[in-house]
Amino acid sequence: MKTIIAASSNAHKIKEIQAIMSKFRMQVVSRDEAGVPAFEIEEDGETFEENSLKKASEIMKITGQITIADDSGLMVDYLGGAPGVYSARFAGEECDDTKNNNKLLTLLKGLSPKEKTAKFVSVITLMFPDGTAIVARGECKGRIIDTPTGENGFGYDPLFVPDGYDKTFAQLSEDEKNAISHRAKALEKLEILLREREGFNEGNC
Ligand code: IMP
Repeated sequence: MKTIIAASSNAHKIKEIQAIMSKFRMQVVSRDEAGVPAFEIEEDGETFEENSLKKASEIMKITGQITIADDSGLMVDYLGGAPGVYSARFAGEECDDTKNNNKLLTLLKGLSPKEKTAKFVSVITLMFPDGTAIVARGECKGRIIDTPTGENGFGYDPLFVPDGYDKTFAQLSEDEKNAISHRAKALEKLEILLREREGFNEGNC
């Protein structure tokens, strides 16, 4: 079994990634478990793709092993795609999920449900030791509601109702969210791209 280093330390993300990588007999370990010294990678790109590539590249250069990184966020149509790559720090550097959600609600106050369409985006990069990379993007469309609802998940989950549902991401179970989320869709795409990559077939890596 080969090892993939996750550029993230987020246990939730690593669990989702492991589920796909197991099919390729790959074991996913966090950067901490891999002994990568703690340092922050500045997410200064203008796109999810740039940030995802940067995270994968910086960790791969340290470990010399296959590395996987994810960059994700919320894009609200009325706000021209904001908060986008600034999703984690929408309400400032010292913010938290509650402050970010409150800022979003303030900016969308008074709008009709139809004006509050949005999508979550995830871009996953798998980088190989030779510097080549596979990049997969997943999106989940929905809308923002007026009142935070639900206890599960994290981030903007209590404000986001995915298309075809009448519950927020925070009201869905982990399995329900994982079946339709932006990250799940990016991982599905990654799986397809990996199968196309020569020499990286199931049980053959
Ligand atoms: P990052 O990909 O870890 O940089 O996450 C960026 C930010 O986007 C998070 O801090 C959340 O605010 C938001 N975000 C990304 N994915 C999700 C999700 O699945 N639910 C809720 N918020 C999310």
